Formats: sequence, C-alpha cells, structure tokens
Amino acid sequence: MTQSIPERLSLARYSFGVGDRFARQAKAQLRACMLAAQHGVEIVPVWNKSHREHLIVGSAPGSVRTAAEAAVCELGWTKPFHIDADHVTLETVNGFLEASDFFTIDVAAAIGTPPASADADRFLERHPELLRSITLPGRERPLAMARGLAIQIVRKYLFAAQTAGCIYRHIAAAKGPGNFITEVSMDETDRSQTPEELLVILAALADEGVPVQTIAPKFTGRFNKGVDYVGNPEQFETEFRDDLAVIAYAVRTYPLPPELKLSVHTGSDKFSIYPAIHCAIRDFDAGVHVKTAGTTWLEEIIGLAEGGGEGLALAKEIYTHAYEQRAELCAPYTAVIDIDAAKLPRPAVVDQWTSEQFVNTLRHNRQCAAYNPSFRQLLHVGFKIAAKLGRRYLEMVDAGEELIARNVTENLYQRHIKPIFLGKH
Ligand SMILES: [Zn+2]
Repeated sequence: MTQSIPERLSLARYSFGVGDRFARQAKAQLRACMLAAQHGVEIVPVWNKSHREHLIVGSAPGSVRTAAEAAVCELGWTKPFHIDADHVTLETVNGFLEASDFFTIDVAAAIGTPPASADADRFLERHPELLRSITLPGRERPLAMARGLAIQIVRKYLFAAQTAGCIYRHIAAAKGPGNFITEVSMDETDRSQTPEELLVILAALADEGVPVQTIAPKFTGRFNKGVDYVGNPEQFETEFRDDLAVIAYAVRTYPLPPELKLSVHTGSDKFSIYPAIHCAIRDFDAGVHVKTAGTTWLEEIIGLAEGGGEGLALAKEIYTHAYEQRAELCAPYTAVIDIDAAKLPRPAVVDQWTSEQFVNTLRHNRQCAAYNPSFRQLLHVGFKIAAKLGRRYLEMVDAGEELIARNVTENLYQRHIKPIFLGKH
C-alpha cells in the first residue's frame, strides 16, 4: 500500500524529553544535549509538561516555550527543539495549541471501551493481514495473530485509536496538519500492551489518518517516579525488541510516517533498562524518544542542599512540608510511586543533617549506601510545596544557579544520555 505522505514537521531519530517544573533549567538541560553532540550523537531536546503539572505549579503552557527559546538563543543551539503538550486529551488540549509543536495524545482512558460493532467489522474486513500469524524480521517467534485474537484486540483498542484520531484532527484544524509532531500514549494504564496489540493499534491509527511519529505503550514492570525500574529487565528487553519489530513492519505495511519510533515514558531514572534500550535500538537501527520528568526538579533540591546555608535550610523545609502532607501529595500518583513510609526519615532528624547527608540520601546513586528511594520519591511528587513557596523558592534557585545547573546537566548527560544513546556508563 503506497500513499504519498505530506510534508510535515519531523522528529529527529534520537530525541530526549525533559521536564522543567519551574522553567528555570532549560539552559542546563540543553547543555546535556550539547555534550552529546560533542560526543558525536545528535539528540533533539523536547521540553514536556502536562496539564497536571501546569495546574500544580500554576504555570501556563507558553512559559515552556519562552524558557526553551531563551536557552536555545543564549547557547546558540541551531538544531531543532520541540515543546511537548504532554498527555493531553480533548478536554485539556486547547491551552497548548499555541505554544506546542509536539502533542502527546493520551488515550489511556478510552482503552477497553468497545467500538461500534460496524466499525469493528469494517476494520477486520480491511485488515485480513491481521487474521493470521505474521513473521517479523528480527523476532524469533512469528506474531501469533488470528481472527479471535484480532477481534479481542479490536474490542479493547479500536475506540482508543478513534479517540486519538478525533484529538489529532482537532489539533490539525487549529495548527494545520504537518505543523506539529504527534505522539500517542497509552502508558498510564494498569495493563501493558503486547506486540500483537501494538500492531493492531498502529493499523487503526493509520486508518484514522493519524501521522503518529512516536508511540508510548505501557511496558511490563513498574515505572515509578524518579527511581529505578521495578521488574524483570530481560522481559522488558524482549518486549521492547518485539515492539521495534512490530513498528518496522507497521511502517512498511501501513501509511504511517517512516520515522515512527517508540517513546519510553520513563518517569525518570530507569537505569537498569537503559542498556537494553541502547542495544535494541542499535540492533534494529531504530530511533527512540525517551521522556524524563521530575528528575530535573530533584537536581534543583540537590543543588540547593549542596550549597548549604539558606539553600540547605529551604531543602529541609520543603521535605518537612512534604512529609507532613505526604498523603495529599502522593494521592494523584499512587500508580507510579512506591513509598515505604517506615523508611521516610522524620523531619526532626533531617533537620540535623549536613549538606552531604541530605544530598547523598536524595541523589540517585545506587552505589551510595545513604541513597533512599522513598525519600527521593516523596520529594519527586513534592514540587507542589515548592510551587506554594512561590518567589521564595524561585529566588533561591536563581541564587544557586551555578551549582544547580551543574547538577542538572551532569545528571541528564551522565546518568541518562550516556547509557541510552552512547552506550556508556
Ligand atoms: Zn506517560
């Protein structure tokens, strides 16, 4: 099946999604991509921020572009960069239309709603290739497609693909098709998607005319916020490679953008699966988009604490409030955090800590005995506390810029970009 694909804004092969809660670290984040360029790998930065984050911080989508453009201008970045309206739905997308050129269309909530039966029938008629097993290069077992399985998957996912089509057309009507990058996400759900499901979803998105350039399935295992992967890394690798094989097949078979690639919503810091991602994209000659989120905000706290004095005092104050309000802070994130309350140090204890103790407890260094994932996850979701401090927090961050920026850049480059894109630890 051939169909000419219109000119469109196209995402580079390697792209890296960075979150910047308070829009102060764009320069430090961009420097991580510049370091990668110096080491021979071109990585395009994408600044992502969701409606939920904007609500909590009290920011507007335009502020993400303003911060990114200032950084790009100041550092003389001449390659592309993008502004991702992260996890948008029809209800939340409008506020992002002006400032974003990358839209993560979230259809997780539509999964499981059965489509109109006529739509399901038409889909199955149009896709006889999905009714029998498919041999995929690079995959040992054939994809076990069969009519019964196809019907089941269509009942579970066709409506979600139609919803993506509906949101895509809404964005395209406002921005003009081709003027933005489309991602479709279904990671914020409780069940991971099989490669068979991914294939049906891609066929359905192609039918809907969604020029999807990145797709974010849910992978097996837990992707908790700001801490390492919890699950079986070998199983992840098998699944990830299967998905790459499915994408290669889908791009050859359906009118989808040839640059279509996986987007991994990491929730940050999935260090133990980074080597698998690196080897898989190398073996499949594939691109990848890797989204990180609050890791940068934690580097702000680390930088403040490292500086000692008032900065350390403020970091402790934020922890104290986060500890007191932990139930409220954690509620929106229960699916993506695992905090062991017994492992949270009491604020009175933390109050006595030196800079080094605070930093070692928070920094994600698996070799350090003091590192405490519960402490880290609580602060990860605790950005609301800093948002409430308003100017006091921002002025302190600005005053500590040098130390913070060094932590932000080093964290992104050394712990994330190097193992994923350069294959080094
Ligand atoms: Zn996500």
